[in-house]
Amino acid sequence: MKPKYKRVLLKLSGESLAGNLKHGIDFDTVLKICEPIKKCVDAGVEVAIVVGGGNFWRGRSSGEMDRTRADHMGMLATAINALGVADALEQLDVVVRVQTAISMHQVAEPYIRNKAIRHLEKGRVVIFGCGTGNPFFSTDTAAALRAAEMEADIIMKATMVDGVYDSDPKTNPNAKKYDTVSYHEVLNKDLAVMDSTAASLCKDNNIPILVFSIDDPENIYKAVCGENIGTVVNSED
Ligand code: UDP
Repeated sequence: MKPKYKRVLLKLSGESLAGNLKHGIDFDTVLKICEPIKKCVDAGVEVAIVVGGGNFWRGRSSGEMDRTRADHMGMLATAINALGVADALEQLDVVVRVQTAISMHQVAEPYIRNKAIRHLEKGRVVIFGCGTGNPFFSTDTAAALRAAEMEADIIMKATMVDGVYDSDPKTNPNAKKYDTVSYHEVLNKDLAVMDSTAASLCKDNNIPILVFSIDDPENIYKAVCGENIGTVVNSED
């Protein structure tokens, strides 16, 4: 299997890093996710990663808290995950740089677009922490933004479901999975792929999104090779 893409933006949800723990980081799970990432790098693919933070904290689920402060906490949670993924990749001898959208100089590089691209060109994995650096956004929006800035070929959204359905497969046994679906449909039917801000950004900048299951981490490599897994979201032809 040969890679189809040269530069990809991989979105890892916080949930995917928790494994069976459901909360926090299960390092064995993170290592398993990082093995196919190493395979991609060894095959010459440039890999940028945006990590979520839902395994620790989600701003929108914070109840009575001030939303902005709750979102600041969520962004810090993504920084913890970024460091965890970086450590796992380094244990597998992959060269990694973490860049954060909120400055924390002692811990990680600040986000600098050109520097990130330089890292990618040198075959280093770049992990983006702290989302967009702004409250009221999500790490899906950060993935769309960084993919546009990095001029990535595709966003690979690794999730807990194996693609995009016309209704929730957990509650509707007749839910149908799409092989491909347009941004327009995702937005109009409010399909649960990503939030509308992230989907709009992808639509406006024509960035395809592949949604696939992380249950089998090897899917990451299959996705990079253009195998028919999951659902592709793109513009209508
Ligand atoms: N967040 C934010 N701005 C961003 C990205 C994330 O404020 O640009 C905060 C927000 O509170 C969010 C949390 O960080 O709930 C964790 O991100 P997300 O929910 O996207 O993580 P995931 O669901 O992918 O694990």
